[in-house]
Amino acid sequence: MGRNFKYCPLCGVPLIQSADGERIRNRCPDCDFVHYRNPLPAAGVLVRDAEERVLLVKRRYQPFRGMWVVPSGYVEEDEDIRVAAARELREETGIEADIGPLQAVESCFDDPRAVSVLILFEGRVKGGKLRAGDDAEEVGFFPLPELPEIAFSCQRRILGRLRGKSIPEP
Ligand SMILES: [Zn+2]
Repeated sequence: MGRNFKYCPLCGVPLIQSADGERIRNRCPDCDFVHYRNPLPAAGVLVRDAEERVLLVKRRYQPFRGMWVVPSGYVEEDEDIRVAAARELREETGIEADIGPLQAVESCFDDPRAVSVLILFEGRVKGGKLRAGDDAEEVGFFPLPELPEIAFSCQRRILGRLRGKSIPEP
């Protein structure tokens, strides 16, 4: 789950394990750097058309290449969460949307790159032209009863709730 430092990223000294409350954390014995391991925020946009079909993209790259996801991705450090959501939607689908209310927040533990927290907003299309972006093989709208194979347990939970079926927690 995620990557670990062997050496202090600040001064290069080998890290040691040290108790911190209920956790064991890697700490630098020289400069007291502590490697806190936190999930990365990811932002996404749920776009639905007039027939309540959901906009999905087919992943071009691993992990879960060939499976489908709601347009989403990691938030840059200097980026507002809603700006990130709109950017990911634009990059992956060509669609410009106004970012609306929060749709869901879910922890995502099955991404081998990093544990993340997906923050998903409702989006209302205001322009753009539907086309698959760099990270996507295809884009399309799908009716909820006929979804393709969805990547990431957090996304399956969100879409399952929309479909009216509850998906068990991981
Ligand atoms: Zn250090």
